[in-house]
Amino acid sequence: MKPTPWQQRWAIPPTPSDDADLFEIARYQFVSAAQYIPDLREGMLEFLSHCVRTVTVEFPVEMDDDTVEMFVGYRVLHSRVRGPGKGGIRYHPEVNEAEVRALAAWMTWKCAIVDVPFGGAKGGVVCNPKELSQSVLRRITRRYISELGDLIGPHTDIPAPDLYTDEQTMAWIYDTYDMLHPGRNNLPVVTGKPVDIGGSYGRREATGRGCVFVLERALAHGVLPDRDTIRGATVAIQGFGNVGSVAATLLAARDARVVAVSDSRGGIYNEEGLDPEAVLEHKRRTGSVAEFPGAKTITNAELLELPCDILIPAAFEKQITGANAERVQARLIVEAANGPLTPLADKVLHDRGIPVLPDILANAGGVTVSYFEWVQNIENEQWPEEEVNAKLRIKMERATDAVLRSYKDLDANLEQINTARRQYAGDDVEPVPKPDIRTAAYVVAITRVAHVAMERGIWP
Ligand code: NAD
Repeated sequence: MKPTPWQQRWAIPPTPSDDADLFEIARYQFVSAAQYIPDLREGMLEFLSHCVRTVTVEFPVEMDDDTVEMFVGYRVLHSRVRGPGKGGIRYHPEVNEAEVRALAAWMTWKCAIVDVPFGGAKGGVVCNPKELSQSVLRRITRRYISELGDLIGPHTDIPAPDLYTDEQTMAWIYDTYDMLHPGRNNLPVVTGKPVDIGGSYGRREATGRGCVFVLERALAHGVLPDRDTIRGATVAIQGFGNVGSVAATLLAARDARVVAVSDSRGGIYNEEGLDPEAVLEHKRRTGSVAEFPGAKTITNAELLELPCDILIPAAFEKQITGANAERVQARLIVEAANGPLTPLADKVLHDRGIPVLPDILANAGGVTVSYFEWVQNIENEQWPEEEVNAKLRIKMERATDAVLRSYKDLDANLEQINTARRQYAGDDVEPVPKPDIRTAAYVVAITRVAHVAMERGIWP
């Protein structure tokens, strides 16, 4: 029998299997964290676990050989409680509705954690950009955006880059929207644009840079008992795209030893440390990090199991699962990608005492500078890069402080939380266990979103 919302409100959900779809995983994370907030108003859990709007568009595109192909795209708005929807657009053959819904929900929590006035949204088109020419990608982008019509807009839902979309894609999105809505300032309709069309300095690097700020702050807070700085730490990074390559470069500049990196074609390892700039140059020339001179070839699976201080998954979701979490040898994991760990992996790592800085905190630098870009566009301003980076650092440090404070408070108040649960739901209610940092991050986010929802009141 389907549980009533009331039963669900107080039941710690069973851990989903690694096969669960991404939205089930996102929902599980949210519902389990909500158990730590006994005074969350009844019904709020139901309200915030749904997506406000899920749109599918199917559209034809003329290919370079004069044939016509159909494509499927999605745009999901999870919440606009704290502001207009905000979230990237992904081009990938495995894009699906559940994935886009999960990514949209994570955007809501992420925006709340870094305290920017946006709700959560996400989009995607099922396609393989590696096999498509720039002109086909341009036609896909234009048609997808025109099919979405007024579902996106500078004050309703604002896209940004994600996997396999970049500044060029954002320029096409802006241009399409501007052609369809002439005569007004449309720059804030999309972020992550090239700097000469209203993009912000520092946006391209913002997610990787934000990740490094979070890591530095968390180390200073003592997440690893015997290491309080990045200097001298060994780091392995899965994924050498925008986020992974920027994180690698900034970490090496802080005297960390980046011992391994990878991309979809495989990984490279050098115990003495790789030079990320040289690896980037090699990738520019050959299309991959593979076969970088002087490094040993490893697989993506091997990279995740290397002995190192810090492991940064920066590629794709569900990379560390119940099947390989036992073999992870890193001492700290920083989730630069969205959803790289499954709940089963979380459990194993929590039991083994390996802390995880969760995606909704660690990769929120991108949306933070997207917010800065949006503000600059509305004001017709362009801030210098140093100003953007300094503002980003403040936001990321405050967010990390809030999450780690919540982690300590939940841990210290576990007995009070369980007493309150029994008072609300009866003596049979299951007690919540010791939280992990992901749970603490969700508690910060849910509390902020629920508070604004109550201040505004439920419409009408
Ligand atoms: P990107 O397209 O620039 O790079 C992706 C990288 O991952 C590439 O190097 C690709 O080769 C590699 N890759 C793909 N499949 C892989 C696999 N199976 N194993 C190993 N490597 C693989 O994308 P990006 O913008 O760097 O995004 C990476 C992750 O960060 C995604 O999860 C994305 O959702 C997340 N993220 C990105 C941003 C942003 O601002 N770009 C913001 C927040 C979160």
